[in-house]
Amino acid sequence: MKCFFFSVLFFTGILASHSKVTADSLTYYYTLSNQNIKDDNYRNALFFTQKAIQFAKKNNKNIEQALHEFNLGKILYDLKKYDDALVSFLKSATLNNTTISNKAKAESYYHIGLCYMAKENYKEASPYFNKAENLYKDLKTTNKILEVKLQKGLINRFTGKTQEAMTIFKSIIYMPESSILEDLKAKTLYQIGTIESQYNRNNLAIAYLKKALNANNNIELKTSIVLALSTLYDKTLDKNLAYQYLKQYLKLKEELTFLNNKRLGVDDYAKFKEAERLKEQNQFKIQKEEELKSKKISKIISILAIALITILSLLSLSLYKNNKIRTKSNQLLKDKNKELEIAKNKVEKASQARSEFLSTVSHELRTPLNAINGITHLLLEEDPKKNQIDYLSSLKFSGDYLTKFINEILEINKIESNKTEIEEIPFNLKQLLINIKQSLKELAIVNNNDFKLDVDYTIPDFLIGDPTKLSQIILNLINNALKFTKNGVVNVVAKLNNLEDKYATLHFEIIDTGIGIPAEKLESVFDSFSQGSIEVNRKYGGTGLGLTIVKKLITILGGEIHLKSTVNKGSTFSFQLKFEIGKKPIDIVSTSKQNYESKLINKKILLVEDNKINQMITTKMLFNKKVICEVIDNGEEAIELLKISKFDLILMDVHLPGINGTIATETIRKFDNITPIIALTAISLDENREMLLSFGMNDVITKPFIPEVFYSIIADHLK
Ligand code: ADP
Repeated sequence: MKCFFFSVLFFTGILASHSKVTADSLTYYYTLSNQNIKDDNYRNALFFTQKAIQFAKKNNKNIEQALHEFNLGKILYDLKKYDDALVSFLKSATLNNTTISNKAKAESYYHIGLCYMAKENYKEASPYFNKAENLYKDLKTTNKILEVKLQKGLINRFTGKTQEAMTIFKSIIYMPESSILEDLKAKTLYQIGTIESQYNRNNLAIAYLKKALNANNNIELKTSIVLALSTLYDKTLDKNLAYQYLKQYLKLKEELTFLNNKRLGVDDYAKFKEAERLKEQNQFKIQKEEELKSKKISKIISILAIALITILSLLSLSLYKNNKIRTKSNQLLKDKNKELEIAKNKVEKASQARSEFLSTVSHELRTPLNAINGITHLLLEEDPKKNQIDYLSSLKFSGDYLTKFINEILEINKIESNKTEIEEIPFNLKQLLINIKQSLKELAIVNNNDFKLDVDYTIPDFLIGDPTKLSQIILNLINNALKFTKNGVVNVVAKLNNLEDKYATLHFEIIDTGIGIPAEKLESVFDSFSQGSIEVNRKYGGTGLGLTIVKKLITILGGEIHLKSTVNKGSTFSFQLKFEIGKKPIDIVSTSKQNYESKLINKKILLVEDNKINQMITTKMLFNKKVICEVIDNGEEAIELLKISKFDLILMDVHLPGINGTIATETIRKFDNITPIIALTAISLDENREMLLSFGMNDVITKPFIPEVFYSIIADHLK
């Protein structure tokens, strides 16, 4: 017990040095464990020490765990459970390796040695004692060094080296007297006594044993000493003393058994072992479960990783494929685009070639046509014979037809080549319609038609738009209506459909009670060269281009043409157009036939024209109206002449050798801004009124001339 209490004190010291542990559960368990050891209640001591170990382990307190493992080893050693004690001491030694406390290390080694001694395994014990001795020597703890020495002596003794053992034992007992060494010296004296008894030096043996008995409080050692003395007295035939020591021995033995039983019940150790086993099993189970859990988790992680990798791979693959497909389709699209572009260029080139061809052809036709029309006109004016009048009338009709045809082809060509420009000028709609009615009066009379004009009085007086194109549309439609109606009614309606802010939307209707159009032709009448039927063409004439132009012009002005017709009942052409509301335009009073005759008399006009036939026709036409006419066939000379002479008006052909009419006009305008210059042109694709006016010309007369138009335009520009 004494030895054990020493250990307890020793460990209290160590624990105290770890102030961290003062108030936690470790201190609590440790105190309880110590108290129970003092009370010889080893069962409770075991329980609380185990608790302390578990607690330290759970909280990763290595030093504390080592101390409590050591404590457990000590309890088990006292209970003579050397195998279990050895396990605990070894654990404590391993844990102690991580600490710097040599004292704790030395204690573990020393006790491991003691366990091997108890198990009579001296070979294993020896190195532990050596390790412990070295550490104790460093620590200079004499009593501890001597305790190890005693054990080394015992090893010698049990391995047959009695003499060496004796030398060691003697060195211990000759140590100076000290209370700490009492117990140790008693043990040593007992060893010497038993050796002497072995050699039958009985008296000497008795003397050592008696000394050992006096110096000792250890009940176990006392029991052994008393038994040895009894045996010795028996050997020396002192039966009485032998008996007395035997009696003493039996009493001590009884006491020892009682103490051992008190310390631990028969079942208690079994319970402790069972608890240990269960604990280990539990730990093993937990460990296994944790392993299984972590295996499961890593399995799930692996599966997830594989799934993720698979998804990513599939994604990359699909992206790659997608990319490839896209690149491929992009290439395909590029190729197709190229093909389309080539095809488009071809079509554009073909269409350009077609329009250029048409333009050239019609332009080239105009010049001779001008001669035909001009000469016919002149012949008709020169009092022809009655039979000649019919021929000349036919010639005039054919000439007019061809002129109309060429003009219309040129018009369509221009619209289709997007060369038509839309004018935005103020005009008076009512006046425009009245003028149209006036110009077609004769045709209405020829066919005995009642020609009515119905204009909504709410329509603003002045609108902004393209009056030329609007006239063209309405003229064409009324012309057809009057042509295809006999003894009927032709009504032209203009209504205000909507008035908002600055805009007016007008609804136009050209209604007739004529021959009508069959249902199946309603769509196709707007196609080029489509006439109702061969009979219609024969009977009424026409080019089949009028409605094509009308439809195209309405479309470019932002409207849509509609047609309703019943055969033999009549037709209605309608369309809507939006106009900006404008202010009063500058009045250009066109000159009527009656007026132009007087205006032309004795006027001096310069004709710049290179074509001999045209020169002849134009001069003749002017001469007929008593105009004084001078002719020059190139621009350069005309400029020079104008610098020195004055004319009332200049008629300038556009296509001239050398500088053309436009450049000549531009040059003239540098020194003469007053004399009116009128262009004479067989307008081609790239020529238009605006373009010509931009060079300083005042007006345009197109070839072939329509005499009425020719004279009135000239008269308009004369003072
Ligand atoms: P055309 O110069 O032959 O009149 P259009 O393009 O103006 O050519 O007309 C095409 C055809 O539509 C005409 O030939 C005719 O058959 C038919 N048409 C046009 N307007 C009328 C109408 N008001 N009444 C009956 N038929 C018409």
